[in-house]
Amino acid sequence: MTDYRSKSWWLESLPETIEPNPQLTVEDSADVVIIGGGYTGLSTGYHLKQLNPGLDVRLIESDVCGYGASGRNGGFSMTLFGLTKGITKFRFDDQKARTAHTYMENAVDYLHDLITRNRIDCDYERSGYLLVGTSPPQVKRVEHDFKIMEKWGLSGVQRWSRERLAEEFNTDFYKLGWFEPRCGILNPAKLARGMKALTEDAGVKIYERSPVTDFTRGPSSRFTIRTEKGSLQAEYLVFATNAYSIAFPQLKSMQMPTFTHIVMTDPLSTSQLDAIGWQCRAGVEDARDLIHYYRLTRDNRIVMGGGDVSFGYGADLNRDLNDRTFAHLENHVIEVFPQLKGIAFTHRWGGPVSVTLDMAPAIGYLGKDKKAIFSLGCTGHGVSMTTLNGRTIAELICGRQTSRTEMFFVGRNIFPWPPELISYGTAHAIRGFMKLEDRLYYK
Ligand SMILES: Cc1cc2nc3c(=O)[nH]c(=O)nc-3n(C[C@H](O)[C@H](O)[C@H](O)COP(=O)(O)OP(=O)(O)OC[C@H]3O[C@@H](n4cnc5c(N)ncnc54)[C@H](O)[C@@H]3O)c2cc1C
Repeated sequence: MTDYRSKSWWLESLPETIEPNPQLTVEDSADVVIIGGGYTGLSTGYHLKQLNPGLDVRLIESDVCGYGASGRNGGFSMTLFGLTKGITKFRFDDQKARTAHTYMENAVDYLHDLITRNRIDCDYERSGYLLVGTSPPQVKRVEHDFKIMEKWGLSGVQRWSRERLAEEFNTDFYKLGWFEPRCGILNPAKLARGMKALTEDAGVKIYERSPVTDFTRGPSSRFTIRTEKGSLQAEYLVFATNAYSIAFPQLKSMQMPTFTHIVMTDPLSTSQLDAIGWQCRAGVEDARDLIHYYRLTRDNRIVMGGGDVSFGYGADLNRDLNDRTFAHLENHVIEVFPQLKGIAFTHRWGGPVSVTLDMAPAIGYLGKDKKAIFSLGCTGHGVSMTTLNGRTIAELICGRQTSRTEMFFVGRNIFPWPPELISYGTAHAIRGFMKLEDRLYYK
């Protein structure tokens, strides 16, 4: 097992050392088994116990809860569904894209409430999300998104002119801003560990360091889920394995793990902070194809991510580190804030996000009786969504009909990625096109 601390600064700097829960070493049975201890799995377990405290719910995590994307991400709680509003409108339709946006607004509000209500200590700041246009073509893109919001009659966004932006930031980079005050930033690993504690307190039994090796379904229609040292039988099975779903043959072609990378500076001194501004402390993204996303931590380090992505071939999930992308991101910090020239970068990491062929998230079923449920494809926008998806999955299992279970992406058709070699080529071709567009147009 890799040391979880090496996977991100968030995991490394947790106030406590994680003592993993006991492994699954017995043969037992339960009502529901959840595979994966990120936000999706933890939230599903928590909400199942809220809806039906009598259910026997078990969660099996291959490493420690928060080891995957949930312990490594940028910590933006945001409203973007899939990759962009334009792609969602094109793939589905205008009405569905609107409902998706509303689901995401609810997701951000719900995560805020969950953290507040349960006093989850995760450095949560409701400082908003700022999408910036940094070149005329990017400004056009942001304008386009404003038009979509106007057409939908939604009002959760403010327009920040160049002058308004200059009140907040000392940079020439920003030309137009889309500011969404309901959004926030948080410490993702603290959220994952806080969610683990909440889920256990609710009565879910969690096994760690227990990779699930396979599952079968017997004549009684119950699932048997096996790890190296034990097994569980269950009536319902939830795959909360996101990008790692590639390891299960039944889910392999539904999504492709795509790696995004992050660098982090030393804490900024007061004079460095004064020099760059960033009064609002909002999480910032630009409007390129291969976006940059950046934010401040509680102790005023800059976390800068994105810029490019990497792919593994086949089931290769060892693509966390990419020196070229790290160098690009470090340069970009100085491009945006030349005042910080010479600042030290202390941490670099990466992790896998899950991308479907049509770039949209999905909650789906294996089998007609809908007793095996999976959730995947949240791309780099899953912090809020996976938390609400957990509630949605719990409602599906408990037979509740809600606005969430009726969403169009629940049980939707997923176009499979083609066989490995073609997928790898296709993913590189899409990335190549995006890079070219960024270089020629959106830079
Ligand atoms: C670098 C990075 C930056 C990101 N930034 C943002 C952001 O700022 N905002 C945002 O909204 N989203 C962001 N995301 C995306 C977001 O982190 C994910 O969408 C979200 O965390 C997915 O949660 P999850 O629970 O579905 O999956 P994960 O957190 O990946 O959890 C899956 C879990 O399954 C476990 N597992 C895998 N295989 C097995 C097995 N065989 N048996 C048992 N357990 C198994 C893994 O160990 C893992 O813990 C980012 C992602 C990355 C990688």
